[in-house]
Amino acid sequence: MGTNWPINKSTICGRLSLHTYICTNVRNGHGLHPAPNHKETPKLFRKRTYLTIHPMATATTPTGSLRIETIYPNHNWSQICLNLHEAWIPDMIRSVCYTEIHDIMPTKQRLHRIAHTNTDRCDKCGQIDTLIHRVTDCGAGKDIWNWTQALLAMMLNKRPQHIHADWILRPYFHTTPLQKHGAILWILAHRVYYRTQCDTQTSLQDYADFLGRARWKAQNKDTHKNNLGTICR
Ligand SMILES: [Zn+2]
Repeated sequence: MGTNWPINKSTICGRLSLHTYICTNVRNGHGLHPAPNHKETPKLFRKRTYLTIHPMATATTPTGSLRIETIYPNHNWSQICLNLHEAWIPDMIRSVCYTEIHDIMPTKQRLHRIAHTNTDRCDKCGQIDTLIHRVTDCGAGKDIWNWTQALLAMMLNKRPQHIHADWILRPYFHTTPLQKHGAILWILAHRVYYRTQCDTQTSLQDYADFLGRARWKAQNKDTHKNNLGTICR
């Protein structure tokens, strides 16, 4: 093998560059697997190649936290990821929730910041188009949020004001029993989907109808996947 590996520039990233790694480890002989001998079989050669290259690749991969974890370091991110993973929701809704939780949804504010739109204002109401604006404020958003708060408060036997809006953006909570926890996740996920992918000017009644259709489709597993495209009407 020697030390003449092809250096792929795309692998040079993170705090420890490939160049640094080679200087500090490989050239000193610490990162190398034992040198070959004339009896080496092809299988052993492949194994030795892997054992040499793998530490180099992992050493140049950044091991820092996710961007969203550094922005909100006080949240229970393992619980958030678990909630997103285990929520019994269609993949299409899960992917929308993923972009919402990781704050990568293309809102006007975000697009304006990277010069992809001329304004950061909402097309419908003229307010700054943030994620929380879309989910809880725009159009009938306040009515729908108040209704959702009351519903969740009833389920959890709490006061509505104890149901926080950031449960929608970052669902860090865990409740028991499991069935109730799953039901709350289902409600919040569908709310995110409805408010970000459908017409935000629709009424509370339209939202209630949407939940009714989604619930019916969830109960009909066989047709559920085929009808994902028509869930938002
Ligand atoms: Zn708006």
